[in-house]
Amino acid sequence: MGLIVQKYGGTSVGSVERIENVARRVMDYRKRGHDVVVVVSAMSGETDRLMRLAKEIDPRPNERELDVLLATGEQVTIALLAIMLNKLGCPARSYTGAQVQILTDDVHNKARILNINEQRVRKDLQDGRVVVVAGFQGVDEKGDITTLGRGGSDTTGVALAAALKADECQIYTDVDGVYSTDPRVVPNARRLERITFEEMLEMASLGSKVLQIRSVEFAGKYNVPLRVLSSFGEGSGTLITYEDKAMEQALISGIAFNRDEAKLTIVGVPDQPGVAYRILGPIGEANVEVDMIVQNVGADGTTDFTFTVHRNDFDKAMGIMKTVAKELRARDTKGDNKIVKISLVGVGMRSHAGIASSMFKALADHGINIQMISTSEIKISVVVDEKYLELGVRALHDAFGLEQKPESVR
Ligand code: ADP
Ligand code: ASP
Ligand code: MG
Repeated sequence: MGLIVQKYGGTSVGSVERIENVARRVMDYRKRGHDVVVVVSAMSGETDRLMRLAKEIDPRPNERELDVLLATGEQVTIALLAIMLNKLGCPARSYTGAQVQILTDDVHNKARILNINEQRVRKDLQDGRVVVVAGFQGVDEKGDITTLGRGGSDTTGVALAAALKADECQIYTDVDGVYSTDPRVVPNARRLERITFEEMLEMASLGSKVLQIRSVEFAGKYNVPLRVLSSFGEGSGTLITYEDKAMEQALISGIAFNRDEAKLTIVGVPDQPGVAYRILGPIGEANVEVDMIVQNVGADGTTDFTFTVHRNDFDKAMGIMKTVAKELRARDTKGDNKIVKISLVGVGMRSHAGIASSMFKALADHGINIQMISTSEIKISVVVDEKYLELGVRALHDAFGLEQKPESVR
């Protein structure tokens, strides 16, 4: 009993039949005595379709108007689900982000939620209705529609759960939980019963798109019990929790990867104070986010400086770097937008040495050259050629014994 917020992703609401399936699950929870708030995404493929339309007109569409357009995807789904619930005899009402009043900042296309006015939702729940809220969207102080970035419906779900102090936020998707790695790349990946917020945050930020990173941040910050489940079956999914000292921590929980990486190198710049700033300052000013950074000092007193950016920003970053290279009288510049990043994540790494070397050995055994390395307390990331992505992920999954064990086959 109590309040549950359920979020259904695009595939889960991809057709009228699937919307009916969602409605039946919601009604099931109601029968068991729960109040239910449902957050839905746009039907599968819809956000991409809308984006393509806008880009047909302008490759860099006006950001405010793009939000007006993209928000329509979720508006269709909330209405269809509410129509379905009412038809099936379950009183329901749908609301857009602006109607609820999910207040965000005004950074179009990647707005952050500032506040949620949950009064209207509460009133409907008291009146015995299911409340259906559009994911991925909000409204800024001026009353303009904003969107939260790709995958943003997860964040709407968690933020609503936090605002309503829900007993659980359930993220329904097309896989039945969080796996040791993307099951589309490693078919025998193992579903995790539990994963810590810290690990999930790393997995999400290192490329596992099963949860939007902000949703995990939010859930951790407001202590929202968060569960990832399949909308196509039963099962307890994966619970995202705080680290439990009593729990035996797996060495490695998962492998994340990111295909959207690009690498830039400026060769032979003087090894003196201020050089990193001279290079990365203008990159930051152009709103290009830098991920990994490596600097090597050569014997001749010059250094090579390499960094990675999102592939979409590659051309822009190359342009800036070439200008800086001239000013610094650098010997050369190089770029490669066919690289990927593969990362091992696990809180168990904290107390174990030797994981990095096992990782490097597994990659070496498969003839995979490592181009860059970066580590933190609970993760190790490597950059490799994109042609090695699948091979690399599978090799590491094998090397660390992450596959589904026969006894846990369901
Ligand atoms: P939704 O539309 O429901 O939001 P997403 O496509 O955003 O669904 O997220 C679910 C997908 O995330 C899965 O289909 C899977 O391919 C991918 N994924 C990536 N990494 C993982 C992982 N570690 N565990 C489970 N799914 C993952
Ligand atoms: N519809 C949006 C997207 O495709 C938001 C979401 O599904 O979470 O990114
Ligand atoms: Mg998603």
